[in-house]
Amino acid sequence: MKATKIKTLLHDAPVETNQKVQGWVRTFRANRFIALNDGSTLANLQCVVDFEKTPESILKQINTGAALALEGKIIESQGKGQTIELQVNTIEILGPSDPDSYPIQPKKHSFEFLREKAHLRVRTSTFAAVMRVRSALSFAVHQFFQSHGFYYVNTPIITGSDAEGAGEMFRVSTLDPLHPPKNEAGTIDFKADFFGKETNLTVSGQLEAEAYALGLGEVYTFGPTFRAENSNTARHLAEFWMIEPEMAFYDLNDNMDLAEKFITYVLSYILENCKEDLEFLDDRLTNEESSKPQAERSQMGLLEKIRFVIENDFKRVSYTEAIEILKNSTPNKKKKFQYPVNNWGVDLQSEHERFLVEKHFNCPVILYDYPANIKAFYMRRNDDEKTVRAMDILFPGIGEIVGGSQREERLDVLQKRIKEMGIDEKELWWYIDLRRFGSVPHSGFGLGFERLVQFATGMGNIRDVIPFPRTPQNASF
Ligand code: ATP
Ligand code: MN
Repeated sequence: MKATKIKTLLHDAPVETNQKVQGWVRTFRANRFIALNDGSTLANLQCVVDFEKTPESILKQINTGAALALEGKIIESQGKGQTIELQVNTIEILGPSDPDSYPIQPKKHSFEFLREKAHLRVRTSTFAAVMRVRSALSFAVHQFFQSHGFYYVNTPIITGSDAEGAGEMFRVSTLDPLHPPKNEAGTIDFKADFFGKETNLTVSGQLEAEAYALGLGEVYTFGPTFRAENSNTARHLAEFWMIEPEMAFYDLNDNMDLAEKFITYVLSYILENCKEDLEFLDDRLTNEESSKPQAERSQMGLLEKIRFVIENDFKRVSYTEAIEILKNSTPNKKKKFQYPVNNWGVDLQSEHERFLVEKHFNCPVILYDYPANIKAFYMRRNDDEKTVRAMDILFPGIGEIVGGSQREERLDVLQKRIKEMGIDEKELWWYIDLRRFGSVPHSGFGLGFERLVQFATGMGNIRDVIPFPRTPQNASF
């Protein structure tokens, strides 16, 4: 008999039919009630065993964590908490599990503990819910772009340019680390390396995506990105997934409009398609918040926060306006910021971003027109000669979720900027070439997928929204 997913059974409720299910035991009560979960949905299927007819040797193997195949009849449930249950006729133990050493016991475990059991944590309700929402969000990302005429491009993961300008990189090399070939100056001879030059894992697919936008029109990437920055925060991973749309003929306003429409779309998609999981995660968050002191509690629940973002326009504020707000803010005057804001031109720290989003505006904020000196070389220079057409989207509880800009399309301005910043022009020959042959105004942004999943699931730590997180000192699994 072919097995049916628990999600389908709970949805269709085919009472009085014989069915087979396969899954893992969450709990086994009173030698009679198995709560079986197969990952297809949040809910378990209650499976009722007739212990008088079941051999002791089988009953002994029905332990939390064991994998079973069960056949029997679906009937209406008399018990509370479920509408149907499976009256079990045959039990097959597919994979036994030692009840004493199985780490995921039917009780509350801390996320820190579960990170050390990352290979098993998806068998908890919380992680399974997060991963189902993550999957739905990925699908929505592709659906949004595909239905708006964007093409999906795959940019290289190994890059030969170290001018991507977005952070520290991981070297890719096949040289023997103990005996690397040296050149005359005594430094490592990368000509002898696999690619005949120094190579790294990419920190962004943007530059390559630009090349494709200037031929396909509107494109997007959705792939892994690597940053060797030693920031041990709840918002940084060494390996994360980034979505990078890049569009010909878009100016910065078009870019902001697209980013807002895109985020609204993917969040609406999960509200529609992940109701159960989101309600569960909403309760989880409410629970977690209730153990915090009143003043630190979030004002809104998870579903409320998601709806708020969907229903309200993002507030658009220039960097210059933001600096004025911060300069005159109470925490700045009372010297509560670790980095005081005194002058135009300083980079914004996350404490400043949080103040703007969570205290001052209380909604998602798009900051734009940043000082050129704190932004990358490829951002389009404004006529004031001081600022560039950059934009960052800041989210409550997350901070920066999107970083983007209109790209500099003028050959002379770009070359001048590259020189000023001391970047080797030869490295970027092909990128500069794009400004020689049919250059047009174009724009794009990068959205950190895990930060989006964090927002959508209410998980406090980015390590808990990716299956096997990579962070400093941690690449287990
Ligand atoms: P931050 O200031 O938060 O470190 P950034 O300015 O270095 O981010 P960008 O280079 O603008 O980030 O990258 C685009 C997006 O990628 C960011 O808005 C963020 O959502 C995401 N992102 C950047 N670094 C990381 C990271 N280490 N882990 C997870 N997501 C990241
Ligand atoms: Mn950024």
